[in-house]
Amino acid sequence: MKNQGNYLLHLDLLIDPVEHTIICPKCGHNYTHIVEVFTRLGADPPGDGVAYAGTIAKGVVLNERHGCLVIRLAGECGHLFEWHIQQYKGYNFVHSVVTGRDPSFDWSAEDREENKQRELLSRMIRGDLEPLDVLVDPSFEGFSVDRYKRVFSAMCDLQRSYMSIDRVTVANELMKKNELESIGGLSFLVELSSEREDGGT
Ligand SMILES: [Zn+2]
Repeated sequence: MKNQGNYLLHLDLLIDPVEHTIICPKCGHNYTHIVEVFTRLGADPPGDGVAYAGTIAKGVVLNERHGCLVIRLAGECGHLFEWHIQQYKGYNFVHSVVTGRDPSFDWSAEDREENKQRELLSRMIRGDLEPLDVLVDPSFEGFSVDRYKRVFSAMCDLQRSYMSIDRVTVANELMKKNELESIGGLSFLVELSSEREDGGT
């Protein structure tokens, strides 16, 4: 397979090299629990319009022709993530994606505050909330995490220039200010835009 070097690197984020267990792609924790297994359908009929045998169809893979098998996992670290097994021709690609944080987990006060801010950012990048509305909301106390502040400021600038807000426009805006790398790159924005309270379908 092409890109085998990258593929092997990526495996380090999926599986503990010693124990051969599934690990949290966010923090590497290797105590994880399988929560749910289902098929997320692709946009392309007819082959992808059907769930894999033994699973139900749930949700659609946005902007992708091919559906995937989803295994949702909860790490004992408090992170929620998914394994996606997506077939393209004869290849089955495995991705591991962080989808959120378990609200029932015993987070510290600081982590809780950070989770709250992160959830707010996530709602804005998904278009559920407008940044300038958040900015003038009297209950809004601002962002304390530096990289969240930068993402928020980029979103406000976009709205002020009547631009749409999504992970691509936000990435471009941050790139203009030379700040994309400092906030964790495009992968952080992808994470934010795929987080859902219900776990992501
Ligand atoms: Zn974790």
